[in-house]
Amino acid sequence: AAKLAKNGAVLYSQTIDKSSQQSLSLLTEMRTALEQNHFQLYVQPKVSVISNEVVAVEALVRWFHPEKGMIFPDQFIPFAEQTGFIRQLTRWVMNAAAACCQQWQNAGINIKISVNISTRDLLDQELPEKFAEILQKNQVLPECFCLEITESAIMDDPVRAHLTLDKLHAMGMELSIDDFGTGYSSLAYLKRLPVDELKIDKSFVLKMEQDIDNTKIVKSTIDLGHNMGLRVVAEGIENAEVLALLKELGCDQAQGYFISKPMPAGNMPAWLERWKSNQTA
Ligand code: C2E
Ligand code: CA
Ligand code: CA
Ligand code: CA
Repeated sequence: AAKLAKNGAVLYSQTIDKSSQQSLSLLTEMRTALEQNHFQLYVQPKVSVISNEVVAVEALVRWFHPEKGMIFPDQFIPFAEQTGFIRQLTRWVMNAAAACCQQWQNAGINIKISVNISTRDLLDQELPEKFAEILQKNQVLPECFCLEITESAIMDDPVRAHLTLDKLHAMGMELSIDDFGTGYSSLAYLKRLPVDELKIDKSFVLKMEQDIDNTKIVKSTIDLGHNMGLRVVAEGIENAEVLALLKELGCDQAQGYFISKPMPAGNMPAWLERWKSNQTA
């Protein structure tokens, strides 16, 4: 072991800086978290702007650290992507989402689940097969799922991304372009992808009622999406004014704190009951 340390480990630790040491220990911690079941599936409802009906939820992962408490994805997803750990995490999320979907179906709840997919996942040749296995194991259909992909994830390696997306779509899963408007994808390219939905980034939607430029951007995006035959979703709805404005502009679906913050997936059926009774009241 001493020899190993001399030739390998010692040399290595001298050349890595503090930040990469931190991300190394973070990787170890994430692996442990997966083994010990410290990740939890949260979901946030998406409603139809016209009918107020809950049509889907977005799956959002949370990490419950024994000492640090709840950790938001912004603090570990980037590291998970850098280190490749995201591949395992995405599979965990898909499995948790599929298990949820199964339970909800048994309870008569038929809503789609959107799952976030990263660049690394798109470059993973085995992903479609892996997803098929997970769905089969949980006895749910691919049609119950929508995959949210950012423009930058696609543009990292458009050829390989396109291949993976074609396979996933052919299986029956829907595809959504997330954070639309913040990336650099060409519209000509997007047109060729088997996409079903555009999701307008919340940076344009938050405080939209106070910002005429953002309103114009949102309107153009809705029109663009509709002209391309796509469903358009807005995220980051924090008040009634924005929701009303989106309705006026013809947006299809809405997601945001005004409707509900993300909640543990297990709370969803009870929340849904309350939502329904509030609509009829
Ligand atoms: P995202 O995919 O754009 O997800 C939307 C984020 O906006 C979520 O943050 C959500 O809680 C937040 N949000 C929703 N409504 C509102 C609102 O009305 N106001 C504001 N201010 N925020 C709102 P969250 O859960 O912290 O996730 C952050 C990002 O982490 C996500 O952004 C996504 O990129 C990533 N992420 C989360 N879960 C996963 C996952 O399972 N896999 C992957 N690859 N990425 C994930
Ligand atoms: Ca998303
Ligand atoms: Ca988003
Ligand atoms: Ca985002």
